[in-house]
Amino acid sequence: MSPTTERPGAVPDESAGRDAAERSWALLGLECVQCGALHPVTDLPRGCPACDSAGRNSNVFCRYAETAPLAERLPYRGIPDSGQGPTPLLPWEPNVYVKNEAVHRTGSHKDRFAALVTAHAQAAGYQAVAVGSSGNAGLAVAAHAATAGLRCTVAAFSWLPEATRRLFTDLGADLRTFDDDRDRIRVVRDLADDPETLTVSNITDPVVGSHPLGIEGYKPIAWEIAEQVPGDVDHVVVPSSRGDLAWGIYLGFRDLHQVSGRPVPRLHLVEPFPRLSAVLGGAAVTDRFPGDHGRLYSIAGDSTTVQAHRAVALSGGTAIVVPDATADAYYRSLCRRGHVWERSSTTVFAALTSLRENGTIRDGSVTVLVATSHFFKGL
Ligand SMILES: [Zn+2]
Repeated sequence: MSPTTERPGAVPDESAGRDAAERSWALLGLECVQCGALHPVTDLPRGCPACDSAGRNSNVFCRYAETAPLAERLPYRGIPDSGQGPTPLLPWEPNVYVKNEAVHRTGSHKDRFAALVTAHAQAAGYQAVAVGSSGNAGLAVAAHAATAGLRCTVAAFSWLPEATRRLFTDLGADLRTFDDDRDRIRVVRDLADDPETLTVSNITDPVVGSHPLGIEGYKPIAWEIAEQVPGDVDHVVVPSSRGDLAWGIYLGFRDLHQVSGRPVPRLHLVEPFPRLSAVLGGAAVTDRFPGDHGRLYSIAGDSTTVQAHRAVALSGGTAIVVPDATADAYYRSLCRRGHVWERSSTTVFAALTSLRENGTIRDGSVTVLVATSHFFKGL
């Protein structure tokens, strides 16, 4: 053994000799969520170019060959197993299940997104990734970038908890913090012009959502639910900010419908104050919706997206408002029973109560609540 190859405390390097993931043959292009235009598979940090130039920004999503089996309906195959799923489905009450996404490597569903975007960055020859985030997405992308040997810039808010700041440092991320959201997004936008850096989060105003190849990583949540729940699922309840997760889960159920004819469940998106609810009531999706998110940091923000609206409209779902005070009561009740989900995740339990009371979820229908993140994120 060469004396230069080992050092005290060294750990195996997962990224050494790691092959780039292979693009799925079935991926035909990127389709606009809003106007339906089909674009070549390339990075579109401003979303659909046609909608962008019209001032009505919209994300794009992957279109696959209609004959493609589920296994080919992810943009890459051979993605290294980084523990991004499957996750457990917990029986909760009769006909109610909890999909526990908190068990991922960095404690949230964002690991599924991070696995896809870092695989894409490697395959496309990028040297670095950049993400605007002060929590779950940033930690997931930083961890997966570290495994893949990519540099990672995280643009966060200055109010970032000290414990989270230390985690970013420990993961080797280049953490930059800002008081103002426009300054934060400007830095990510500048990095989008760097040919070595893949930008994976929003740089537009209005926002479109995150990188579409990463959102594909949420589709297996639907595929796993379909395998784990006996029979069809009627309702899925999802915490939501810009609708990345809900849109990805919708696309997953849409794939299942195309492949096997299974019905798409109704998707109910939970938010801390009316944003998507206002759009469903007639407001423009491009409007700003100021409101108090309290401690529901993971679903904060004053905007919604075309993809969030489409996930609800195409599945026949709804938007449900759960304010911080209500979420807090559920959070405390769940903690007293030993359940350790982040406050934003516990909104789905409060939403279930509301959806039953307003008659949307009836006795006998089957519901899955998506618990997205571990309560350690509340540090
Ligand atoms: Zn478009």
